[in-house]
Amino acid sequence: MSRRRGGRGAPDARVRPTVALACAIGALGATPALAQRALDADGLEALKDESVELVRDYIRVNTVNPPGNETRAVEFFARIFDAEGIAYETAESAPGRGNIWARIEGGDEPAVILLHHTDVVPADADHWTADPLGAEVRDGLIYGRGALDTKTLGILHLQAFLALHRSGTPLDRDIIFMATADEEAGGLFGAGWLVENRSELFEDVGYVLNEGGGGTVSADRVDFGIEVTQKVPVWLRLVATGTPGHGSMPRAESSVTKLVRALDRLRQYRFAPRILEPVDTYFKGIAEAAGEEWSAAFADMEHAVQDPELLARLQLENPFLAAITRNTCSLTRLEASDKINVVPPSASAEIDCRVLPDQDVDAFRAEIRSVLNDSAIEIETVMAFTPAISSTDTDVYRALETVTRARYEDASVLPSVAAGFTDSHFFRDIDIHAYGYSPMAVPEEDSPRLHGNDERISIENVRRGTEIMLEILERIAVTPVP
Ligand SMILES: [Zn+2]
Repeated sequence: MSRRRGGRGAPDARVRPTVALACAIGALGATPALAQRALDADGLEALKDESVELVRDYIRVNTVNPPGNETRAVEFFARIFDAEGIAYETAESAPGRGNIWARIEGGDEPAVILLHHTDVVPADADHWTADPLGAEVRDGLIYGRGALDTKTLGILHLQAFLALHRSGTPLDRDIIFMATADEEAGGLFGAGWLVENRSELFEDVGYVLNEGGGGTVSADRVDFGIEVTQKVPVWLRLVATGTPGHGSMPRAESSVTKLVRALDRLRQYRFAPRILEPVDTYFKGIAEAAGEEWSAAFADMEHAVQDPELLARLQLENPFLAAITRNTCSLTRLEASDKINVVPPSASAEIDCRVLPDQDVDAFRAEIRSVLNDSAIEIETVMAFTPAISSTDTDVYRALETVTRARYEDASVLPSVAAGFTDSHFFRDIDIHAYGYSPMAVPEEDSPRLHGNDERISIENVRRGTEIMLEILERIAVTPVP
């Protein structure tokens, strides 16, 4: 592919909507029965038991990135596929940076990839009450790095995939299990590398199910987001130059003063709000539960955001919700002199801008140039992705929605927009629908454990998630007999 992607990104916090939304998980309902199920009740129980053990085994595989060592995860899955008699392929993008995929063949409908990343972020054992790679079970919860991000999801994908394979159920489409390296550092040694170097793998693919969405349990309700798009990172480096000199004899202007002045203009600048359709749907969906202060505004955000005061208040109260209403820039890195008494010849800043998923990136860079209002400041692009939104008007999206609604009674299920990014953008770039979805409902108070300390997932979530993921695949790939 000709599209160049720049430097490697730092991992992104997965920002979850945290509006104070007020109904516990309803009794497990059941979707209308499919004519053919891959498993009977006993088989399903056995599959769930197996899931719990596999989640624990997988957490114990050390794939902390850096350095990654994802080939260990490849070996983990390869052993399972060997035992099941499933053909698979592997590829290393660099020594130790392994990727693995396997395919169950079906009919001619566009294939679905079950994607997860095998790497995890580092964990500081001093701040954990359990061994981060120990997968200890305490009070019905499995503790370990990757429990939420995203080894459990990988096992739920695997189990649904294995159940379909074992049953030999005829499928309408191919189902591909894919486990890739390096997502936590930008994915260029994983999903990005495969899209670039093994494009033939994706020729018949219509859909990717990936991390990035799922359920959040707050005081008395469950809210599911199916992520259909994300803010797009446009990371820029601004460089100012000037005459260097001694700190004791300042000139009227220097590289640093030019940079500071331009950054201050950017700091004060407010990007125009613009409510995209999935954002509007999301706000409308949470409006009723958002409380008196916000209900009316959320029900009509297009109108509400015209009030700059309201937008400022929203940013104070919920930076995530504010971020999905417009383009943003965070001033994050500054570099100038390395000595206190030396005026440096150049000074630079790196800014983390995130644009709405329909934004033209060149037009955005032009806007930044006019805001900085200093032609002497160079603007370099450190990294920029291509904006894209996945449609909710597909059978696969509807299957996620239908099964989730049936399984979590009273839960809201809405398309969502992520403020951060995942590997999904690599697939949206090549016109594959990508949906961020996990069947697990995680307590709101557990979300900071993602990339934080004492990351954990309940065994109940693993068991229920196994059942839901299988049901989703059956709905997506098994034709009901009329
Ligand atoms: Zn992740």
